[in-house]
Amino acid sequence: MQTLNSPANFDKTITNQAVISVKNLNHYFGKGSLKKQALFDINLDINSGEIVIMTGPSGSGKTTLLTMLGGLRSAQEGSLNILGEEIRGASKNQLTKLRKQIGYIFQAHNLMTFLTAKQNVRMSLELHKEMLNQNMDALSISMLEAVGLGDRVNYYPENLSGGQKQRVAIARALVSRPKIVLADEPTAALDKQSGRDVVEIMQKLAKEQGCTILLVTHDNRILDIADRIIYMEDGRLVTNLADRAISH
Ligand code: ADP
Ligand code: MG
Repeated sequence: MQTLNSPANFDKTITNQAVISVKNLNHYFGKGSLKKQALFDINLDINSGEIVIMTGPSGSGKTTLLTMLGGLRSAQEGSLNILGEEIRGASKNQLTKLRKQIGYIFQAHNLMTFLTAKQNVRMSLELHKEMLNQNMDALSISMLEAVGLGDRVNYYPENLSGGQKQRVAIARALVSRPKIVLADEPTAALDKQSGRDVVEIMQKLAKEQGCTILLVTHDNRILDIADRIIYMEDGRLVTNLADRAISH
């Protein structure tokens, strides 16, 4: 595990090394006669440092795929290699380890209402053994400064705007410098300007940290931050149809 500020964390280039590699992935919900296929033969490679946007209609399987890539749902059929490890058939332990290396940002910020902005960010550092001897308060504050909330460090979520709460969620996801950030419609609840701000902050921090982002969105106004756009329809991935995604 890399420590903070090690030079490798500042690699700004996209490499040819896949940090996410999905092959012939199928996924089903339900059992017996209620069994319904949600993902069909997904094939996808995402390289280190890439920012990929996934778009497509509601119900097409985007969240299902994202949660599988993040080890939040186990894979049934096919191959799912994340950060060099096959996670189909992975043990609970392996999945827990994997989850610590991934930053998650959801549509609803999911902040703890009884913790301040700083405490929310700090909580994600506390999951990492190697962080315990670092100044976690200082790291949390500097990440909040990086998302423009240096003057809101001790605020509780109820006293922050929607955009500010989502920026705390970004700080929380990025403070431990994860290799991969998975974001599911992070701007859905935000007005146009806050949405734009939020993704630009994600983009900037990700490029600085050399991390890979997969972001699901319906928001056409943010597609330009992507290195690549992929499109999901009826559980199938149609890659590199940027034109189609934009007109959708
Ligand atoms: P999207 O994120 O693109 O809107 P989802 O991945 O949430 O789509 O859903 C894809 C399909 O899988 C939908 O038909 C949805 O109803 C179904 N689905 C999602 N989650 C579950 C679940 N936990 N149980 C059963 N069906 C589900
Ligand atoms: Mg969804």
